[in-house]
Amino acid sequence: MYKNLINGEWLEGARVSRNINPSDTRDLVGEFAQADADQAREAVAAARAAFPAWSLSTPQQRFDVLDAAGAEILARRAELGDLLAREEGKTLPEAIGEVTRAGNIFKFFAGEALRVGGDVIPSVRPGVGVEVTREALGVIGLITPWNFPIAIPAWKLAPALAFGNTVVLKPADLVPASAWHLADILQRAGLPKGVFNLVMGRGAEVGAVLLDDKRVDAISFTGSVGTGQKVAAACVARLAKFQLEMGGKNPFVVLDDADLDIAVGAALNSGFFSTGQRCTASSRVIVTDGIHDRFVAALAEKMKTLKVGDARAKGVDIGPVVDDRQLAQDLDYIAIGRAEGAKLVAGGEALSHNADGAPGYYLTPALFAEARPEMRISREEIFGPVVSVLRVKSYEEALALANDTPFGLASGIATTSLKHATHFKRHAQAGMVMVNLPTAGVDYHVPFGGRKESSYGSREQGKYAAEFYTTVKTAYTQA
Ligand code: NAD
Repeated sequence: MYKNLINGEWLEGARVSRNINPSDTRDLVGEFAQADADQAREAVAAARAAFPAWSLSTPQQRFDVLDAAGAEILARRAELGDLLAREEGKTLPEAIGEVTRAGNIFKFFAGEALRVGGDVIPSVRPGVGVEVTREALGVIGLITPWNFPIAIPAWKLAPALAFGNTVVLKPADLVPASAWHLADILQRAGLPKGVFNLVMGRGAEVGAVLLDDKRVDAISFTGSVGTGQKVAAACVARLAKFQLEMGGKNPFVVLDDADLDIAVGAALNSGFFSTGQRCTASSRVIVTDGIHDRFVAALAEKMKTLKVGDARAKGVDIGPVVDDRQLAQDLDYIAIGRAEGAKLVAGGEALSHNADGAPGYYLTPALFAEARPEMRISREEIFGPVVSVLRVKSYEEALALANDTPFGLASGIATTSLKHATHFKRHAQAGMVMVNLPTAGVDYHVPFGGRKESSYGSREQGKYAAEFYTTVKTAYTQA
């Protein structure tokens, strides 16, 4: 049984949760302790007690811990990737890629711990000096979703610890194993007790403690819009700092002048890889008239080559959907798309078993053509391997449609026109814009995040992470 980490001790919880492999539902990944509200409060108390010493630790101490954790993650990427693929269902290469990203993030923020600097600014008053410095915020509550079981905890944890904060992490219920290993690695990398606490458990119980407990100074949340709104309301009520990364309905525009292979490859990746379960996935492809029919035919043809199966099997391109609830949601949307009058060109079939006969949550990637902007499949986040193609007459219409969404995470375009690429980068209402690249797949050392209903607060990752995980102090000295 995998336990919670509270104040440096591994503790059993009030209940136990079973982590099931979505590629083979007979396979139990492990049993994980579930904390209750009291244990969550103990974790907060431990983080509070550990904060004064950790916030005054030297940058070298913090570098050493984060660098060691990053090195271990990278050294064990094949093993941790296999575990991640087993618990979440992304393919092995994708899972190893995610683990590698997590390792690199720890290495990057190890360096950031050394680079925290400030400004010395002349005062407008004679004989006075002004220093602007950054200090740790305090106790940070981290609440993470299931679709990136190690990378998202890593990109919140690493900056939180690098800048001298203490942390309570509540990972998503579906994927506790990757978070547990992260806790184990950090613990052995030399973190003092209480600096990092892991409490696995239900959002409404353990997550709610983090939101309501006044000893938690800030919350960094990634997940759905509905939960994000609850996080925001709770944090505003007690004036805690917060940051939200939420859903997307990311557009991918294909113009007449696009390189067809690049456009098809990027759309295939954006829409279906990681089983469409990425916040940056594109499930809305907007295609101009002149290339539309060729594009849809080529994409449908390419989809025939995608192998759906066990996430850890060789040659598999698309793993299972994460669980039965998400599969039911995907199938609902496929039925909705059909009922709305979109044309299902390919896929959309649930498979109860893989090629080896193992029971799992399999779905063949689904492509809708003739979708219209007002349809629910064109507007709502499905979070599965379901893509709708919308036909437009011009670049201007494509841009307007791309921006016609309450979300604003990522936006992509396939074009060989410098003019259109440049205009699109400037006018796409999204936090991240991709030209001739999939909407998903980003670097680990630059800011990540969106606008509108996709994000709230300052950016995650890269040097911009300091905005959230530190607070600025301005000190005046009369010489
Ligand atoms: P979710 O909102 O259901 O859960 C996210 C986390 O919040 C989980 O740990 C959950 O246990 C917790 N939670 C649930 N109710 C809570 C409550 N009342 N109080 C406190 N915590 C609570 O989201 P999910 O289904 O795990 O993840 C999928 C969503 O995440 C999608 O919408 C996806 O787009 C989004 N996502 C966004 C990004 C991004 O960076 N923008 C990245 C990945 C996923």
